[in-house]
Amino acid sequence: MFGVVILAGFFGWLLIGWFDVSYLVASVSAFVVLFIVAILFEAAEEEAKSETACGHCGEAIKVTAKVCRFCNRNV
Ligand SMILES: [Zn+2]
Repeated sequence: MFGVVILAGFFGWLLIGWFDVSYLVASVSAFVVLFIVAILFEAAEEEAKSETACGHCGEAIKVTAKVCRFCNRNV
């Protein structure tokens, strides 16, 4: 994920060149936006991996949980 973003930023700079400041600023802005999106995406993926559905009530609980915090049953 981060590799794709870094490559996109690198090729953007290669095509545009370093001499035109307005294009450079636009390229950097696009790169920063892509980078933030990538970080948010990874964080969301990490969040999803750490949780599972309770077998009794179906609520999202931690994978490491022994007791469901919603219905208090053993999982
Ligand atoms: Zn439950």
